Amino acid sequence: MTETSSSTVEERHEFSAEVGRLLDLVVHALYSEREIFLRELVANAADATDRRRFEALTEAALALPEKAGIHIHIDKDKRLLSISDDGIGMTREELARNLGTIARSGTRAFGEQLQNSKPEERPSLIGQFGVGFYAAFMVADKVDVISRHAGTEEAWQWSSEGKGEYSISPAQREKPGTSITLHIKADADEFLEVSRLETIIRKWADNIAWPITVHDGEK
Ligand code: ADP
Ligand code: MG
Repeated sequence: MTETSSSTVEERHEFSAEVGRLLDLVVHALYSEREIFLRELVANAADATDRRRFEALTEAALALPEKAGIHIHIDKDKRLLSISDDGIGMTREELARNLGTIARSGTRAFGEQLQNSKPEERPSLIGQFGVGFYAAFMVADKVDVISRHAGTEEAWQWSSEGKGEYSISPAQREKPGTSITLHIKADADEFLEVSRLETIIRKWADNIAWPITVHDGEK
């Protein structure tokens, strides 16, 4: 990797050792279940939208846009799949904390149980625990997260190839919220098909209260 532009201030960080272990486990142990990455990302988008709605109750400036929802977009030529929301968003510090360390006991317990499980036990384990954001690396060899916290003007980009480190740099985002872009792996073409994604959403994200749209091609 090269860092050439002097106008961007890119900071590199290492994942905590726990994140590294979890990433390894999720990516290698759950191959046959990898469609659940979409459930995890859609659930996070919905949680963030719920949270913004809640915070807007006491801070009117955070009010959701009229058509708040979750937008999934495919760019087949570039092999990109993005999931965007109008949720609360993340500050620079939140990106580093939430996507670089494991603070949540659920994910930690999942990692521990997964490590001690037999392959045939894994599908039910996945159902029991949320696997979380890192599930994206089952289908992507690079993940970019652009986020702008509601009530702020600044946006930040978090990027990682899921191999020990991530970077954070300044970015642009028109509205508050978060967009997660997956650079889809060579063996994961199926996740660049609208119908495949719609099937996964029907199966795993039926209970999501926000509208979910799936688009292919031009925005
Ligand atoms: P969990 O959802 O169980 O907390 P995840 O690994 O799925 O664990 O996500 C980690 C954290 O990253 C979330 O708790 C949240 O703070 C943050 N996060 C992830 N996706 C988003 C998003 N789309 N918008 C805002 N915050 C997010
Ligand atoms: Mg989650």
